[in-house]
Amino acid sequence: MDETTNLRKAVRQHLEMESFFTGFTIRGENQVPEMSDQPDSASVADAAKQLEDLAGEVRACRKCGLGSLRTNAVPGEGHPKARIMFVGEGPGADEDVQGRPFVGRAGRLLDKIIAACGLKRENIYIGNVLKCRPPENRDPRPDEIVSCMPYLQRQIEIIDPEVIVALGAHAARTLLNTNKPIGQLRGQFHKYYAGIGRAPIKLMATYHTAYLLRNYSQENRRRVWEDMKKVLAELNLPIPEHGGS
Ligand code: URA
Repeated sequence: MDETTNLRKAVRQHLEMESFFTGFTIRGENQVPEMSDQPDSASVADAAKQLEDLAGEVRACRKCGLGSLRTNAVPGEGHPKARIMFVGEGPGADEDVQGRPFVGRAGRLLDKIIAACGLKRENIYIGNVLKCRPPENRDPRPDEIVSCMPYLQRQIEIIDPEVIVALGAHAARTLLNTNKPIGQLRGQFHKYYAGIGRAPIKLMATYHTAYLLRNYSQENRRRVWEDMKKVLAELNLPIPEHGGS
C-alpha cells in the first residue's frame, strides 16, 4: 500500500469511528451513578489510599524484565469505588511516556466508547494486566503476566466493581483463566472469582480498541456497542440511543 492510500485509509477510519461512537443521545437524566451505590466518603478515601499505596509498589516493581525497560509504570486510574472497571492488556508507547492508561490512539477510542455509554472517565476505573510496556508492543509473556497479576487482583479487590469489562483476548483470557478466542468469549457475561468467600464479579469480554482500530468494520463496532449495552443494562444505567451511522 502506498503512502497516499494509507493516509486515505487512516482518515476514512477516523471519520467512521467519529461518527459511530458519537451522536448518542440520552433520554432523561442519568440518575444512576456509575460509582458504587452512595459509597461513603470514608470508604472511598480508604480505597483511594490503598490504590495509591499499591501504585507505589508498582512504580518500584522489578519482578520481571519489563521493569528495567519502562519510562513509567502505569498502575491504572479512575474512581476508587467504580461500578465498572475496564481492563486492557498493557501500556503502549504513549502510556509509557505519561504513566497513565489508555491515553494513545486506542485510548481516545475508549474515551469515545465511554462517552457514548453516557459515562465519565473519572467515574470508572481503567487498569491493565501488565503495568509496564512490553518492548515494541509485543504480546505479554506468561512469566510477565504471572508476575504482574497480583497487582490487578488487588486492584479488583479494593475497587470491588460490579462489572469488569475485559478489553481484548489477553485481558479476557487472563482474568477467566481460559485459552478460548475472544470471538467466543465476547458478548456474554462470565464470572471473575476475586477470592474465597467473595461473590464472583460479572465480567464482559469485548474487543480491544486497538483491534477495533485495525479491524474497523461496521460489524465490529456494532458488536462492541452491543456488549456495552449489556453492561449498562446489567447496572440499570440508561442506554443512550445510537444516533450515529
Ligand atoms: N492498550 C492497553 O491495553 N492498555 C493501555 O493502557 C493502552 C493501550
